[in-house]
Amino acid sequence: MTPGGGDIETGIAIVGGGPIGLACARLFAADGSAVTVFDPGEADAAWRVSAGMLTPAVEADYGETAWLELARQALADYPKNVESLERETGVGVMFERCSTIALALDADERAELLRRYELLRDVLGVEVELLDAPACRELAPGLSPRVLAGLRVGDCAHLDPRRLVEALGVSARAAGAELVEGRVAHVEPIEQAGVRLLLDDGRTVRASCAVICAGAWSGEIGGVPSRLPVRPVRGQILRLRSGAFSRDILHCGGTYMFGRDDGEVVLGASAEERGFDASTIAGETFRLLEEGIRVVPELREYAVTEVRAGIRPGTPDNRPFVGELAPGVFAAAGHYRTGILLTFATAEALRAALAGEIPVSGLNLLAPDRERFAHAGV
Ligand SMILES: Cc1cc2nc3c(=O)[nH]c(=O)nc-3n(C[C@H](O)[C@H](O)[C@H](O)COP(=O)(O)OP(=O)(O)OC[C@H]3O[C@@H](n4cnc5c(N)ncnc54)[C@H](O)[C@@H]3O)c2cc1C
Repeated sequence: MTPGGGDIETGIAIVGGGPIGLACARLFAADGSAVTVFDPGEADAAWRVSAGMLTPAVEADYGETAWLELARQALADYPKNVESLERETGVGVMFERCSTIALALDADERAELLRRYELLRDVLGVEVELLDAPACRELAPGLSPRVLAGLRVGDCAHLDPRRLVEALGVSARAAGAELVEGRVAHVEPIEQAGVRLLLDDGRTVRASCAVICAGAWSGEIGGVPSRLPVRPVRGQILRLRSGAFSRDILHCGGTYMFGRDDGEVVLGASAEERGFDASTIAGETFRLLEEGIRVVPELREYAVTEVRAGIRPGTPDNRPFVGELAPGVFAAAGHYRTGILLTFATAEALRAALAGEIPVSGLNLLAPDRERFAHAGV
């Protein structure tokens, strides 16, 4: 990011240079707009720790058919988006298709597995497969002998979010977007036309419109129409190193683990309502390691390379706000646990709305089955 000097004029001001902000900047700049991205380099941003799983069906619940469809479409579009991003920038994001295998190690977990099987297959129409213990072990060598059964959900993937953000930044710059270091404190429409932004160092920005993509900090930005109801949710996660580990995502209870091409093993994650405190706490580190070792006993021999927490952007229903808040002020925030999955889909929805190709329908652009939020009454 370039450290900014005096006051600034731009076309589209993007508040936040995480995956959502940079994906938007890249598309808007490619469409010919003058784009400036403001980002203070927040160390606890979600993308800096995110696992990067793309798993539309795994956490889907009753009544979420439309949401599931949207998430599946987002994943279906991923390969072409990744391919063009990698070709353009030369930065590999480690996108890899996989399955998710939910595992049961005791009777309660097996009962829960059966409940998920019926929900996914009968209610949501997802293709799933029940596995006995030998089938689980065949798919994921190294599993505990205590594994009783598994549930395989296909059509998943994972990638490295840090590389994704690096690639999006390179691409946005190449398309002409300017990246400026700065924390936006306030955004408001101005009467004649356009918007005014205030940075916390006193600089002012005038733009034709602004998009708030500041992750969990989106709710801290003052101005119009009111503060977004985005809340911070801490996510603690571990990274380990091994020779070989299941590239399929293994799920058990509230814990997931999988290996990447470069030998990194991701073990996550907590979801804690602790405000903006991104400390890593002993209890969660212990719980994650205990769960990981319960599922794959040899994990106890792996080197721990990182224990870290980041702040997820939660909302009242944990679905994102994507749309117009007030004339010229847009939001693309509150992606909670699905921001990496929805990175390209969010940017494309906003691009199409700003280009007038689709109507900007309140704040539910990316959550068609949720109650519609009124413009000013968020
Ligand atoms: C442990 C963990 C695991 C996760 N796993 C997954 C997963 O497997 N799959 C998935 O899809 N999602 C996952 N997520 C969620 C995902 O990371 C987020 O939904 C996603 O990063 C949201 O992107 P964002 O750009 O909105 O916010 P962030 O990634 O938080 O980025 C926000 C950006 O805004 C900047 N900013 C903050 N305040 C301001 C301000 N006032 N002015 C300007 N800029 C500002 C920050 O510096 C930052 O760069 C996970 C999150 C965590 C914490």
